[in-house]
Amino acid sequence: MFENKIELAKYSNYKIGGAARYFFAAKTVEDIVCAVEKARAEKLPIFTLGGGTNLLISDAGFGGLVLKPEIGLLKAEGNLIRVGAGVQISELLNYSITKSLSGFEWAGGLPGTVGGAIRGNAGAFGGETKDNINEVVSLDISAKIPKIVKRNNAECKFGYRNSIFKIDDPSASSGQVGLGPKEIIIEAVFKMKKGDKKAIRAAIEEKIAYRKARQPLEYPNIGSIFKNVDLRLVPKKLHSEFKEVIKKDPFPVVPTAYLISQAGLKGVSFGGAMISPKHPNFIVNALGAKAEDVKQLIKLVKSGVDKKYGIKLEEEVIYVE
Ligand SMILES: Cc1cc2nc3c(=O)[nH]c(=O)nc-3n(C[C@H](O)[C@H](O)[C@H](O)COP(=O)(O)OP(=O)(O)OC[C@H]3O[C@@H](n4cnc5c(N)ncnc54)[C@H](O)[C@@H]3O)c2cc1C
Repeated sequence: MFENKIELAKYSNYKIGGAARYFFAAKTVEDIVCAVEKARAEKLPIFTLGGGTNLLISDAGFGGLVLKPEIGLLKAEGNLIRVGAGVQISELLNYSITKSLSGFEWAGGLPGTVGGAIRGNAGAFGGETKDNINEVVSLDISAKIPKIVKRNNAECKFGYRNSIFKIDDPSASSGQVGLGPKEIIIEAVFKMKKGDKKAIRAAIEEKIAYRKARQPLEYPNIGSIFKNVDLRLVPKKLHSEFKEVIKKDPFPVVPTAYLISQAGLKGVSFGGAMISPKHPNFIVNALGAKAEDVKQLIKLVKSGVDKKYGIKLEEEVIYVE
C-alpha cells in the first residue's frame, strides 16, 4: 500500500528535503483510515502533507508515513462550495469564477491546498480563510477507531494563522513533528455570494500580479518564513519609528520584512539559500540549498532582529523532521 523512500523535495515548493520512509497519497476517506490503521500498527509517526508550500523539510527526511490527502471534491450548492482538502486554492478560485461566486478573491495567488489553508487560517490582503468557512469536516485519528467530526466556523477556533486543527496537533506545539496530527481535514464548505464573473476574475488576477511584482516567485520558496510582529508586542518606544510601515494583517503589525531589511540582512546568503533582496521575509532556494542552509539564515535573522530591536521573531513555516 505504501511507497518506500520517496524523495520529499519533489513535493516541497522549496525543492528541499530528504526521503520519506513511507509515502501514501489517499484519494478517499477510506484510504486515509486504512493508511492510519496500518501506520498505527507499525507505530509509525504520521505527517499530513498538503501542497508543501509552508514546510521546511529536513535533509534527513521523515522517518514515518507521509500521508497526502488528495480528496478532490468541488461542488457548488447555491452560494456554498463544498471542497475537498486536497484541492489547490487556485483550482477553487477558478471554480468560483466559473460559478460567478464571489468573496474569496483575496486568496488570488495563495499557493497550497484547502486543507493547509484551513489548518493555518491562511490570510492575505486583509482576508483570512476563516471568513469563508461555514463548516469543516475532519477525521479524528487520535481515537482507536478514527471518526468523522463536523465543525461550524466558531468551533474551528480560528485565530491569527491558527485553528483548532493546529492547537490540538501534538506535533505542532514544538514546531516539530512527533507522533502525528490528531485530525486530518477532509473537506470544507465555503460560503460565497453571487457576483460578476468578470469582476471576480479581475480581482483575483490583480492579487496574482501584486504577488508577482513583490515576491521572489522566480526561486523555489515557502512564502514568509516569520510571522509579522503584532504591534501590541512591540516596545512603545519603537512605535514612532515604525509609524510609516505598520499595516493591518488583519490587526496592526510591523512587517517582518522591514525589520530584516533594517537589520542589514537583505541579500545575505549561506550555502545555496539567500535572504531575498526583493522580499526579505522570504529565504529562497537560490542554488541547490539544503535545509541546514536555510536554518542557518533563520538563526542569523532571529539574532540580527533581536540585537537591533529586542524583538523575538517567530517562525510561520513548519519544520518537518
Ligand atoms: C509564494 C508563497 C506565498 C505565500 N503567501 C501566503 C500568504 O499570503 N498568506 C498565508 O497565510 N500563507 C502564505 N503562504 C504559505 C502557504 O502557502 C500557506 O500556509 C498554505 O495555506 C499552506 O498550504 P499547503 O497545502 O501547502 O500546506 P503544507 O505546506 O503542505 O502544510 C502546512 C501544514 O498544514 C498541514 N496540513 C496540510 N493539509 C492538511 C489536512 N488535509 N489536514 C490537516 N492538516 C493539513 C500540514 O501537516 C502542515 O502542518 C505562502 C507560501 C508561498 C510559497
